[in-house]
Amino acid sequence: MHIVVIGAGVVGVTTAWALQQRGHQVTVIERLEGAGQETSKGNAGQRSYGVVYPWASAAMVRKALPWLLDRQGPLKMSMPPSLKTLRFLLDTLRFAYAPGVFGLNKRAMLRLGIHSRTCFQTLEEAVDLSFDGDHAGLLHLASSPAAMTDYADTAALLAELGIEHALLTPDQVRDVEPGMRGPGPLFGALQYTTDGTGDCHLFSRALAEACEKRGVTFRFNTSVRRLVADDRRVNAVEVADAGGAVERIEADAVVMSAGCASPELLRPLGLHLPVYPVKGYSLTAPLIDRERAPRSTVHDDNYKVVSTRLGDRLRATGFVELADFDRRIHESRLDTIKASVASRFPGAADMDRASTWTGFRPMTPDGPPAIGRGTRDNLYLNTGHGTFGWTLSAGSADLIAQVIDGETPSLDLDAFRPGRFAE
Ligand SMILES: Cc1cc2nc3c(=O)[nH]c(=O)nc-3n(C[C@H](O)[C@H](O)[C@H](O)COP(=O)(O)OP(=O)(O)OC[C@H]3O[C@@H](n4cnc5c(N)ncnc54)[C@H](O)[C@@H]3O)c2cc1C
Repeated sequence: MHIVVIGAGVVGVTTAWALQQRGHQVTVIERLEGAGQETSKGNAGQRSYGVVYPWASAAMVRKALPWLLDRQGPLKMSMPPSLKTLRFLLDTLRFAYAPGVFGLNKRAMLRLGIHSRTCFQTLEEAVDLSFDGDHAGLLHLASSPAAMTDYADTAALLAELGIEHALLTPDQVRDVEPGMRGPGPLFGALQYTTDGTGDCHLFSRALAEACEKRGVTFRFNTSVRRLVADDRRVNAVEVADAGGAVERIEADAVVMSAGCASPELLRPLGLHLPVYPVKGYSLTAPLIDRERAPRSTVHDDNYKVVSTRLGDRLRATGFVELADFDRRIHESRLDTIKASVASRFPGAADMDRASTWTGFRPMTPDGPPAIGRGTRDNLYLNTGHGTFGWTLSAGSADLIAQVIDGETPSLDLDAFRPGRFAE
């Protein structure tokens, strides 16, 4: 089959890889000049297979208002909120309080996380990619002694699902991350021992090159304008190049992996996919003292900031901002991220030379991505991975390839149904 994948973010590129491995002819269309240039560019770098959870939960809703009122709080919203933002929040509330939904979605996402770890291992054995990647574990630092009690509950679920983890005392945390010498209070941590890290942008670029060598065609600087469809099938994808020249690319099947841009391309085909761009920030700085830097990745629950080692760099990431597609970088957010790094890893990196970035998590209002068939026989979705697209990419790609090939998916995809928002 000739399959067109829309979008060369980490999800589109892993999808192209999975399809190529199964013998399909694949064309990837990307509006930017290369792979992994949009949301996949500057994320926190965590492959957090054990820490994937739905965003819509009653607990999150309870925390949201205090966070909004706290100047240094991790949640921000532009005022007044747009209609789109309000609609997304209302949908989120609906899912957060729907009986049983959070638990089902959390389990489904964790199973997808486990599957993704296996798929990453297979992929990294098959092709040698250089992306500052590792699997040296992830630490979730507790923000109070009480948080350690919550972590004990989480640990029970992790044990049930066979996810390797450990509850650590402050001394054990320092053993795992000896560079953590800052004044920030330490109450202990939940360690996800087999989780990993990696520069998602470098990975996307390197995997795209590996795909190209195996015959995948990448059409960069080319925008999809619309899907050309009849009542049953998508017959072609209409694209425009940077000069405005329009062309139709015929396809036996189409996979939508356009991140936050997916909804507008799907709407004309009657598919309502309420993916919202949830903005976040990152700083990437060169290391000046490796001994003071994180060995792997640390989520600091005090600031809700993640510090990750990526080769000779430290990347620190934070904030959940509801501001539609506003790309402005607010200095105060960067100051909070810097304060978090200073409280944990002072002197590790030259934060004055840090590059800054902002990107949009393609978030569904309930949390799970959309993986499966769309509103036409040969239209497929692999999109809406929100906070965890890097982590879930390899597993999601494998699953959508199984669906396209007419196999019974190796995971139950019910929580990921693209049509669930119209039900
Ligand atoms: C601050 C922050 C920190 C994060 N940290 C992590 C983390 O630690 N771990 C993790 O797992 N995830 C993390 N994420 C989430 C993760 O980055 C995303 O889920 C993931 O990058 C989404 O990948 P994608 O391929 O779906 O989207 P994108 O990377 O946005 O790719 C979509 C592509 O489609 C292209 N496109 C759009 N419209 C068109 C069109 N009309 N024609 C052609 N091409 C088009 C875009 O140009 C883009 O390249 C984080 C996100 C943010 C913002």
